[in-house]
Amino acid sequence: MQQPEADTCQAPVCESSDLLLGFVNTRALAGTADLLTSPEDLSAWLDRTGLAGAGSPVTGADVLAARELRDAFTMIFRAHSGCADGERALPAAEEYIQRIADRYPLVPRLSAEGYRLVPAHGGVLGGFAALFAAAVDLAARGGWARLKVCKNPSCYTGFFDKTRNSSGLYCSAACSTRMAARAYRSRNKKTGELDAPAV
Ligand SMILES: [Zn+2]
Repeated sequence: MQQPEADTCQAPVCESSDLLLGFVNTRALAGTADLLTSPEDLSAWLDRTGLAGAGSPVTGADVLAARELRDAFTMIFRAHSGCADGERALPAAEEYIQRIADRYPLVPRLSAEGYRLVPAHGGVLGGFAALFAAAVDLAARGGWARLKVCKNPSCYTGFFDKTRNSSGLYCSAACSTRMAARAYRSRNKKTGELDAPAV
């Protein structure tokens, strides 16, 4: 069962997590189409999120870069929820985002209150850099490991784990209940097999 929800998250954390989850959830999830398959798709997503200036040129190479970055974030979030495939893919995903980070530089924007990292460039590069800025922001606030992918194999939606002890594995009570019922049926089946009389 999921733990009770932690205190309501602070607005900047929600903003960063919403951005990253919105990005990984552009994948084809149950019954939905992949939202990043063409330059037009990526352009529309950048417009919706306001990450790049309106009408910024987007190429096929940008789409490939977006999909690779999305795969890397997805695998890290799957590792956060303890999925075996995420843990296996974690070294490659980490290596990838570390290797490409210098394509998307960030600069500190200082004010009397503190600073935040913002993209050094505009356009598509700036849009991808904003995703890195959101990840760094979450990591600095202790929220990075709470970004997960639901362990329900028919769901796999990215979500922010609000449980007090960061033990959430499912995006919703519905997925948690469904998986508990599946585990129960599986246990009963195994018990039934063991109890079945030898022929
Ligand atoms: Zn789910």
